[in-house]
Amino acid sequence: MKLLEYEAKEIFATYGIPVPQSGGVITDVRQLPEALKKAGGGPWVLKAQVLAGGRGKAGGVKIAKTPAEAEAVAKAMVGMKMVTHQTHGKALVVGEVLVNKCSDIKREIYIAVAMDRKGERPVVIASAEGGVAIEELAQSKPEAILKVPLDAVRGIEPYQARGLAFKLGIPAKELGSFVRFATALARIFIDLDASLVEVNPLIVTPEDKLVALDGKIVTDDNALFRQKSLAERPDRESTDLELKAKKVGINYIGLDGDIGCMVNGAGLAMATMDTVALAGGMPANFLDVGGGATADQVTAAFKIILADPKVRAVLVNIFGGIMKCDVIAQGVLEAVKKVELKVPLIVRLEGTNVEQGRDLLKKSGLKLTSAVSLWDAAQKAVSAVTPSAQGGRRRSGDGGPRSAEEAKQ
Ligand code: ADP
Ligand code: MG
Repeated sequence: MKLLEYEAKEIFATYGIPVPQSGGVITDVRQLPEALKKAGGGPWVLKAQVLAGGRGKAGGVKIAKTPAEAEAVAKAMVGMKMVTHQTHGKALVVGEVLVNKCSDIKREIYIAVAMDRKGERPVVIASAEGGVAIEELAQSKPEAILKVPLDAVRGIEPYQARGLAFKLGIPAKELGSFVRFATALARIFIDLDASLVEVNPLIVTPEDKLVALDGKIVTDDNALFRQKSLAERPDRESTDLELKAKKVGINYIGLDGDIGCMVNGAGLAMATMDTVALAGGMPANFLDVGGGATADQVTAAFKIILADPKVRAVLVNIFGGIMKCDVIAQGVLEAVKKVELKVPLIVRLEGTNVEQGRDLLKKSGLKLTSAVSLWDAAQKAVSAVTPSAQGGRRRSGDGGPRSAEEAKQ
């Protein structure tokens, strides 16, 4: 789960980290005068609240000296589409704009706590040369990036924080406030089960005060069960369909292709997507109905897949293990009866009671294509979305399975 800058800064403030005076977020230009007043006298900075960094370089951070300037900026920013170097070419719509008092900057420092998977512990990453070009610095001058491994329970030790302060050139009289700042940052990381807590830039003002001008927090979804306050926050990363799927306990991620996939088990789901791609197609989603899927869940999964207008064929690939294939076939048939199916349906069943399952599908009279192996299913699905080209969009010599045994996997 990613938090927006203003949410991160609210958390920073509760841990005693100095942040700029805030006028709050606005979703409408009419809320601006109130926000400017709350942020104190100008100049102000207006900041697009999207779940991506690199806003400064993409026009998402703008300084306004007068209320009229602020209004012009807010008008352009609320609702604007923004592409930054972190959005992978996708445009994010700016729904909220944060209004902060503008700070005077003497220096910009980078500091973050991240998870060092190799070291199996959190690590503080810092650089005296923070700001909007930190990614370039990491490439061109990796030695300018400092790393301090942390104890996963105790956080940062005072001696570690002092050592960092010296290397970052923190003014001597601010040593105490830097130690408090670094300690709080590590505490937030641990308390929130975060995978990243980042401040870029942490600024030194002309009066030598430290202020967190930007904030980013990424938390671990697997820990949400014990992070009540985080779990209650809106999920901004999921699409409507993904939220629907979550509610009924289905793991679903929307993708760009046109072949809807319904699979039980995450591993089989990934293998199915790979096989569809190998056959020359593009999966429209990742969907795992779970190992013990019920007929109801299968129906819900169908509804979710079919609600995606890109879907032009549905591929069901179910491995009957604990659940028997005939039970699953029954579930698929019930689902197809309940959901209006306008696109070709390809079903591949394997496992316990597979013969009875296939028999049920055959006798049902429903228009569906049965497949005997995953490779067969993937090819049939690809052909279904490209009926004119024989064998679908598959290019020749792209390495399908070499033997019948391999195709069965
Ligand atoms: P991003 O990391 O998405 O580019 P930042 O919040 O870091 O966005 O803002 C980019 C730059 O804008 C900062 O490095 C800083 O120079 C400037 N900036 C951001 N907030 C303020 C502020 N409150 N006062 C003055 N300058 C700011
Ligand atoms: Mg930043």
